[in-house]
Amino acid sequence: MTESSAATGPAFSTLPLADHVLANLQRLGYTQMTPIQAASLPLALAGKDLIAQAKTGSGKTAAFALPLLANLNPRHFGVQALVLCPTRELAEQVTQEIRRLARAEDNIKVLTLCGGATMKPQMASLAHGAHVVVGTPGRILDHLGRESLALDALNTLVLDEADRMLDMGFAEDIAAIVQRCPPVTKRQTLLFSATYPDDVAKLAARYLREPQEVRLAERIAATQIQQRFYEVTESERLHAVGLLLNHFRPESTLAFCNTKQQCRDLVAVLQAQGLVALELHGDLDQRDRDQVLVQFANRSCSVLVATDVAARGLDIAGLAAVINVDITPDVEVHVHRIGRTGRAGESGLVFNLASVDEMGRVGRIDAMQGRESVWHKLAELEADTAAGPLRPPMVTLQILGGRKEKIRPGDVMGALTKDMGFPGAAIGKIDVNDFSTYVAVQRDIADAALRKLNAGKVKGRSVKVRRL
Ligand code: ADP
Ligand code: MG
Repeated sequence: MTESSAATGPAFSTLPLADHVLANLQRLGYTQMTPIQAASLPLALAGKDLIAQAKTGSGKTAAFALPLLANLNPRHFGVQALVLCPTRELAEQVTQEIRRLARAEDNIKVLTLCGGATMKPQMASLAHGAHVVVGTPGRILDHLGRESLALDALNTLVLDEADRMLDMGFAEDIAAIVQRCPPVTKRQTLLFSATYPDDVAKLAARYLREPQEVRLAERIAATQIQQRFYEVTESERLHAVGLLLNHFRPESTLAFCNTKQQCRDLVAVLQAQGLVALELHGDLDQRDRDQVLVQFANRSCSVLVATDVAARGLDIAGLAAVINVDITPDVEVHVHRIGRTGRAGESGLVFNLASVDEMGRVGRIDAMQGRESVWHKLAELEADTAAGPLRPPMVTLQILGGRKEKIRPGDVMGALTKDMGFPGAAIGKIDVNDFSTYVAVQRDIADAALRKLNAGKVKGRSVKVRRL
């Protein structure tokens, strides 16, 4: 756990969980509960419907996974729990976490059902029987329509990242799915969300029965997060981001804009300045989104530029800096943005660029924080000209070929170190996806590694490799 909302609550052993479940939690390194778990687990394990709100990375998955598993009858092979998630990426993360938490039970089958994968294998897996299904609304509805999925035996329904599902326009799909579930009196419904706007409250009112509300108001750890404000004109704003990056030289930065257009413009400006910046936006298809996130996580992209919607639910740890390129009108959103840095005792930098027109928003942030914002001047920012523009330490090489070609991380590591003689320390993260493998290598060996990989073999076969 890398977040600032660390697991500091009571021990899991205070909960009514079976001994083998507790032993498994111990093995996973889960000894104490996070605040949202401590607040929601006693209620959820008692069978109550629940609305739980807490920021990304606060441990919400276990807060619904443990109750859902407690409700299962492993001997009955029908779908007893359904978790709806906004994206495939999140559905896969949730599936993995449920599998880890279910390791103590024998033979709990957890199935992911998302778009972008072919229907046939999913239908075959369903025919074999699954206890838990995790998926995106569109695909779940598809299976219900074809009657490859039945929800008659359902006892737990989870709406995860409810705010984001609504943002993505899933309200009608959710309604259609809930209609196919047993009535509200015959199921437990758990709703999780990072934020709690009105439309989420309405959703809860429709599908939950006398829900208990667990909402963790966020407090900013004033000591850990250092916020700096810069006054800018509109014409200075995008350029100022590059000045900040070249002056403070954070290794990884998340830059928030209020609109997609602003994201696009900023990436163009940063790239023109020689910085490695990528945009994360809602219109990217899953493959491109994966590729962007891989590059950011493996340290070969300095700046990820995103809107709040695109960044929601991302579990990115260890951000050195957050830049609010635009000040958001919503104070709660501001708190979420800056909460992504300064985690686990590390110091985090937050930069805010505000125009005269945005001073009202800054005033509201000050009021919420109970302190005055600290202002600095753009003119103080000096680029370290000797060092040149900020560069990420790694470069990503994409090997065309992945899980489908049975490539494993060890194969790539072996080819680069044993066959080609690169030091292991120069090789970073290796991500194997279905059709592609991404390997991060240190910048100074990138060209040589690219050449040797293209000329050599991985797992006994020639491969095509390109630099991203
Ligand atoms: P959220 O859904 O709130 O964004 P997650 O459920 O994805 O958060 O949890 C974030 C990270 O914290 C995960 O890597 C998870 O394994 C870890 N984690 C969750 N609960 C605990 C705990 N009690 N102790 C230690 N680590 C935890
Ligand atoms: Mg989550």
